[in-house]
Amino acid sequence: MDWKDPEQVREYNRIAKSVWRTDPENRKKEIEAGATWRRNNPDKVKAGKKKWHDANFEADNARTLAWRKEHPGYMNAWYAAHPGKMCEKNARRAAAKAGVSHVPYTVAEIYERDKGVCGLCHKRVAKKCVTIDHVLPLSLGGDDAPYNVQIAHLMCNSRKYNTARFPQNLRLAM
Ligand SMILES: [Zn+2]
Repeated sequence: MDWKDPEQVREYNRIAKSVWRTDPENRKKEIEAGATWRRNNPDKVKAGKKKWHDANFEADNARTLAWRKEHPGYMNAWYAAHPGKMCEKNARRAAAKAGVSHVPYTVAEIYERDKGVCGLCHKRVAKKCVTIDHVLPLSLGGDDAPYNVQIAHLMCNSRKYNTARFPQNLRLAM
């Protein structure tokens, strides 16, 4: 063995370590040390994961999809246990697709702010019938954000389609 050859030294270390870790006590210590390092270096862990994901993007996605196929119902259960996450994810996607900004908000929050009054017909909306209306539609470049949404009846909202009703709507938003 040539100790000056870093390649061989690495190989030596690798073999020595693999022998050392066959002892369950040592393996336990190694796992603990790894966990401690990860706890102390969250940024490096994040960067490492991202680097790995970028390099193995397709394989990583395929692995995730395969795992989900083997565990049907897992994602549904997760979304059921985390109410709002699905809506939030969809909202972020829709905003990204439309090329506009997304600032998180909840329907309850907007309902409270608008005092339960439809922004389109100015009549009260029952909580269970409320929809979110984008004052300036996403398709026209309006942001998906608290400052560009108002509550509306489903009927009022669907009648509006992709039109921004100037100037009433804009005045309402300001
Ligand atoms: Zn209305």
